[in-house]
Amino acid sequence: MTDDIFEKILTGEVPAEVVYEDDLTFAFLDINPNNPGHTLVISKKHFLNIFDVDIDTFSAVMRTVHALAPVIKKAVDADGVNIHMNNDPGAGQVVPHLHVHIIPRHEGDGFTLWHGKPYEEGVGAETAAKIRAGLV
Ligand code: AMP
Repeated sequence: MTDDIFEKILTGEVPAEVVYEDDLTFAFLDINPNNPGHTLVISKKHFLNIFDVDIDTFSAVMRTVHALAPVIKKAVDADGVNIHMNNDPGAGQVVPHLHVHIIPRHEGDGFTLWHGKPYEEGVGAETAAKIRAGLV
């Protein structure tokens, strides 16, 4: 895919600060970090996002996220990390190649990722029922 900048990072056509690689996954620093150490973990094989990836590949990506998160937290002396994934443009996905963000956080860094709001009467139960129905 020509607009897949991460494919170009995988092939070395575009440089990146690579921090980890194995047979199925690849990890490098986000070029525009929320905080230093903000890392992207991608699948080597091209998938768009959660909606087309197979479970074995996604499991491999999450295995890498699990291994890197504590290492990154320690390396940048963070107070915690956010694990984040945007799936489809409607959820803010810009790069069309499956990736998971590991974002180091520091107390008082001022980032607010999203704001919750309570369900209106009956809407929570109705929504949960729709999700349960989709599982069968
Ligand atoms: P998303 O909104 O989840 O698709 O986020 C894509 C992320 O890729 C953004 O946080 C960008 O800063 C990051 N990004 C885009 N181009 C590059 C690049 N060449 N090297 C590293 N990170 C990049």
